[in-house]
Amino acid sequence: MNELRSSERIINEVAQGTRSLDEAVDWFSSLQQGEQDSVLREIVLYSIQAHVTAEDGREGLARSGVKATMTPAVLILREPILQQMGKIAGLPPNEHLKAFRVLLSTFAVADTRRRETECRGACSHAWHNLS
Ligand SMILES: [Zn+2]
Repeated sequence: MNELRSSERIINEVAQGTRSLDEAVDWFSSLQQGEQDSVLREIVLYSIQAHVTAEDGREGLARSGVKATMTPAVLILREPILQQMGKIAGLPPNEHLKAFRVLLSTFAVADTRRRETECRGACSHAWHNLS
């Protein structure tokens, strides 16, 4: 079957509803700081692939469990969305957990739309065909 990296698998399991965001946060918390930086950037790249929109950011924030006054929450509501996601991925370590929640929730919204539209039926994306 597909040999996905653990980060890729976990991110996509959350997007596909087979793993909870809280479980993913537990996993993310166990990573070292440099690894957390990489994962945050990875989610931004996946969001580009999924053609993320500003509306996805608003919906993602609502599902993230992050308060609207927190820095990642404030940024995700600004446009252009990809530039803001890049800023969120670059926030200092004390913001990493909230950044992870906001970015992953936003990706989940964008990727769910993609799975239900252009990927509907059969697609060859390994990350959409998790065993
Ligand atoms: Zn697909």
